[in-house]
Amino acid sequence: MRLIFLGPPGAGKGTQAKLLTERYGIPQLSTGDMLRAAVAQATEVGKRAKAVMDAGQLVSDEIVNEIVSDRIDQSDCAKGFILDGYPRTVPQAIALGKMLEGKGLKLDAVIELKVDEAALVKRMENRVAETIAAGGTVRSDDNPEAFKRRLTEYREKTAPLSEHYAGTGQLRTVDGMADVNTVTAEIEKILA
Ligand code: AMP
Repeated sequence: MRLIFLGPPGAGKGTQAKLLTERYGIPQLSTGDMLRAAVAQATEVGKRAKAVMDAGQLVSDEIVNEIVSDRIDQSDCAKGFILDGYPRTVPQAIALGKMLEGKGLKLDAVIELKVDEAALVKRMENRVAETIAAGGTVRSDDNPEAFKRRLTEYREKTAPLSEHYAGTGQLRTVDGMADVNTVTAEIEKILA
């Protein structure tokens, strides 16, 4: 099972991807998580990505295409994977298509979580409050200014992906405003 989750920051892509990894026994490949790990380890990629990420802007296509391609080659992706936060631009989607073709792999579905943008800032604030309550570390781009920038980046660069995948006939849309379990059930119906 090879899936892509689309949707703005805070739509619940990560939450749903995590639930599906358990159900299908396939890993969640979050480019945001991979980049944050690279920043934490101060790798070359991490050093190049940090300032861009903190500003809520997109890291270059070249960097993310390469980290995804390397990750897909790892043995735990043999049964499939869930892409969360990638592709994020039409050129990334085109690169992914070529990458998968080169590896002899096919996508099963592209699932878009549709949400009301006004609710997203509130969700981000809740995520920050929950992280602090759990004693965790708040993401450096989870602040109102960077979050607004991430939403703008989404509107300008990522939203056109819906049309791209509608054109390939792979796009499925789910109401991301419903509660977590209802959203999961809707996704499972699509995948059944
Ligand atoms: P996320 O955890 O998906 O919200 O990603 C956090 C940040 O990582 C984004 O705001 C970008 O700076 C960067 N990032 C994650 N995935 C990508 C991607 N596919 N293309 C470019 N930048 C990305």
